[in-house]
Amino acid sequence: MTNYDLTNIFAKIIKGQIPCTKIAENDDFLAFEDISKAAPIHIITIPKQQFTSFEDFSQNADSKLIANFWRFIQKITEEQNITEGYRLITNVGSDANQTVKHFHVHILAGQNLGGLMAQDKLKR
Ligand code: AMP
Repeated sequence: MTNYDLTNIFAKIIKGQIPCTKIAENDDFLAFEDISKAAPIHIITIPKQQFTSFEDFSQNADSKLIANFWRFIQKITEEQNITEGYRLITNVGSDANQTVKHFHVHILAGQNLGGLMAQDKLKR
């Protein structure tokens, strides 16, 4: 575990110190609505254990936990009845604008999500 900040906002949500609109939960994982939706369906999925990012999770989590996390996400997409497709995003580090340093995967759906990135943001 690398420099995990115990006061990050998702740590507080896990502890119940900050409310969230819960979508799914089990002993290991939690899913809740993003507070600032970028699409009609925008769900944040997190492991409850303390991992700062995808890198930390991939390197240090138990293999079973990693597999179960992807299954947890897949089950949510099924339960949300997302028939037209969806996008999974995990931001890592400053160039990706990772704002919360607790590993999370965004589920985005509910409309056509367009290209992967706004073209005007690209440096050429
Ligand atoms: P990222 O930029 O990948 O680190 O994403 C962090 C996400 O957390 C953003 O989409 C925020 O809108 C979302 N977020 C921040 N605070 C909260 C909160 N209290 N409840 C739900 N989502 C939040």
